[in-house]
Amino acid sequence: MTGRSSGPNRWRGGPREANPEDPSSRVGWTAAIDLYKLWAMRSLAPILVLVLMGCAAEPVAPALTGPVLPTAQVDSFAVYHLQRYEMWDWSSALQGVTPYSVDATGLPVDTIDGVLYHHPIHIVHIALATLSNSQVHGDTALLHLVERWTSQMVQEADTDGATISFPYRFGFDLHGYASEHMSAPWYSGMAQGQWLELLVRLYQITGDARYRVWADKVFHTFTDVRPSTQNPRTVAHIDSDGYYWVDEYPNRGRYDLTFNGFMFALRGLYEYDQLVHTANTRRILLAGLTTIKRYAPSFRVIGGISYYCLRHKVQSAKYHTIHILQLHDLYKVTRDPFFEDMANAFKADYWAP
Ligand SMILES: [Zn+2]
Repeated sequence: MTGRSSGPNRWRGGPREANPEDPSSRVGWTAAIDLYKLWAMRSLAPILVLVLMGCAAEPVAPALTGPVLPTAQVDSFAVYHLQRYEMWDWSSALQGVTPYSVDATGLPVDTIDGVLYHHPIHIVHIALATLSNSQVHGDTALLHLVERWTSQMVQEADTDGATISFPYRFGFDLHGYASEHMSAPWYSGMAQGQWLELLVRLYQITGDARYRVWADKVFHTFTDVRPSTQNPRTVAHIDSDGYYWVDEYPNRGRYDLTFNGFMFALRGLYEYDQLVHTANTRRILLAGLTTIKRYAPSFRVIGGISYYCLRHKVQSAKYHTIHILQLHDLYKVTRDPFFEDMANAFKADYWAP
């Protein structure tokens, strides 16, 4: 005891060579080690805790520097906050019509050419519908199921630290055209927008900060309009007239200009803007609204079914109805009568309830 209690004074000048034959030396070293442990506990413990927290927490995305889309056409629109039930609840509309298989991981799977894949859009549709169910029925088991799916899909996603992209790991002939083949991996602005919507909802429901961090990283993919040669994960571009497009099928610069996918993405960007309220989230949303307002008449077919896309001008009665519902929602968000007039014009052109 004496040796230990006298230790601190002995070793103030620093450690000395231990002499195994000198009992006082051994006592002194023991005291030094005890002191070292004490110092280490007091000094290093907070650092260790921070390191462990850093390992456990999702690294946040770097903040955006300066305004995004500096060269884009951006008109002013009012943006009203809507409750979710005030908008078209397409995810509820999917309930009961989405039987799905799961793989060994528990995630819904699609079988394509005999191979199992995690389909980013199909999974997010099922997840949003399941989340709606969990909210309507207060079913926390369903909520936890969606959370497990989401964690796994984020784990499987492609990231560079600042962005998260949900890849299609299978090829796809757009409209069935072999000439319009999308080579895997490819990325879709529609999938990015709907995952953004899901992550915003999960954050609002659970308060779990991971969902906010993941949402930020998904949002960042909408701010990068470099060509696919510079960013193979690009899902948006600015056309030669300065209009900002979110691309459901970017197809390495051969833009499809898909109407419904763009407006689905805008829904996610709107939900995220309502959560985050920054100049950049609002600018992206307004840039998208500006483009929709400019180009909606180009999708219209007077007296007929609207075009699914401007590149191929294919037509689909199912998507014509979706266009009408989406335009109606944009009217509710902005109260700009243009969108309601256009929804009504589309409906007058063709309506098959
Ligand atoms: Zn097309």
